[in-house]
Amino acid sequence: MSMQREAALYAEVVRRNPGEPEFHQAAHEVIHSLRPVLDARPELAEARLVERICEPERQLIFRVPWVDDSGVVRVNRGFRIEFNSALGPYKGGLRFHPSVNLGIVKFLGFEQIFKNALTGLGIGGGKGGSDFDPRGRSDAEVMRFCQSFMTELYRHLGAQTDVPAGDIGVGTREIGYLFGQYRRITNRWEAGVLTGKGLGWGGSAGRPQATGYGAVLFAAEMLRRRGEDLHGQQVLVSGSGNVAVHAAEKAIALGANVVTCSDSGGYVFDEKGLDVELLRQVKEVERGRVADYAERRGASAHYVPDGSVWDVPGEVALPCATQNELTEADARNLVGNGVKAVSEGANMPTTPEAMRLLREAGVAFGPGKAANAGGVATSALEMRQNAGRDPWSFERVERELEAIMRGIHDECAATAERYGAPDDYVLGANVAGFERVADAMLAQGV
Ligand code: GLU
Repeated sequence: MSMQREAALYAEVVRRNPGEPEFHQAAHEVIHSLRPVLDARPELAEARLVERICEPERQLIFRVPWVDDSGVVRVNRGFRIEFNSALGPYKGGLRFHPSVNLGIVKFLGFEQIFKNALTGLGIGGGKGGSDFDPRGRSDAEVMRFCQSFMTELYRHLGAQTDVPAGDIGVGTREIGYLFGQYRRITNRWEAGVLTGKGLGWGGSAGRPQATGYGAVLFAAEMLRRRGEDLHGQQVLVSGSGNVAVHAAEKAIALGANVVTCSDSGGYVFDEKGLDVELLRQVKEVERGRVADYAERRGASAHYVPDGSVWDVPGEVALPCATQNELTEADARNLVGNGVKAVSEGANMPTTPEAMRLLREAGVAFGPGKAANAGGVATSALEMRQNAGRDPWSFERVERELEAIMRGIHDECAATAERYGAPDDYVLGANVAGFERVADAMLAQGV
């Protein structure tokens, strides 16, 4: 593919999706990676596969009215982007956060297509959410919001059609309220319509751990290829939500020393290494802040209200907070401090400039669509357990997750090598994911 053709494909995405910088960014990265594939396989270019994949199959935008605890009527906006179903039902999380808008949901849905393809588990790509801010809201308010959200969304869902799960701001509590409303409206106990359910009502063991564990397993695989492992390494984690907590837990289990976590207020550097149980108690149970963790932890933990976890020296970085949280200046700090590997637990947490800098410095870089695929892969395992009415043990799920993450790592590495870019996991993930979706679309006709 010529540079002009690449530029034209990208310009068309920008023209059709004005004011959506995150979606442009995600599309640009993928289009750029595809140059060698479209050269090697002209039939994919002829069938306009890139153009078709960049256009969502269906975009839903809806009103979500609800009543707060003081009786005031509130209105939020709901989204569901059903991006691509060539490989299976639309699959992807729901994000409840004030930053959510069409462009953010589209970037997340786009990433999800390739991520889900990489799992090899027969799931298409989708994403949804709302600009609702659950922070500071009571349980009853969150419940009423979720019920209103599902009152519109239910008609678009189905175990063979579209299967949401959680993302930022949506955990087991929210999935419970959403599932309850779906069941009430439809009069169907259809477990496979949502994943991330509670263990007692159709959820999978190991689902809460899966994204964080998977990102660490991916980092371990990248290190193994370089003849190293996580044992004794200083690890930096950003974020303090479900992904961050479980990434820290797994890294510690593999012998690493995890020294940071963060939220939108600031970050914690814990000299003695994070106390994951305390962090979980503060964040998940009490719904508090990392500043509260530092206060409770004592002298070893330093709370820094401004600045970034990437200022702290570490050998492995696990960005597990949100998009574009690791900037070029952060990448420079990390490289200066001798970082060896970056594995993205969040979706697109590294800016394009930061990514370039890290890769040029020879840092092993695992992009989110490969490194954090363990979450959605385990959602697919949950769907399988639901379909068979056969719950699996934690050990079985963990074994499957390990095999899946190793498989994704090896496929990305092999694909990168096949296209003459050894160790380029970004190219490997984009190309391997694209080829799987594109081949299915080609076979299924226009
Ligand atoms: N939100 C997660 C992701 O970004 C999980 C999606 C799912 O389990 O469907 O992949």
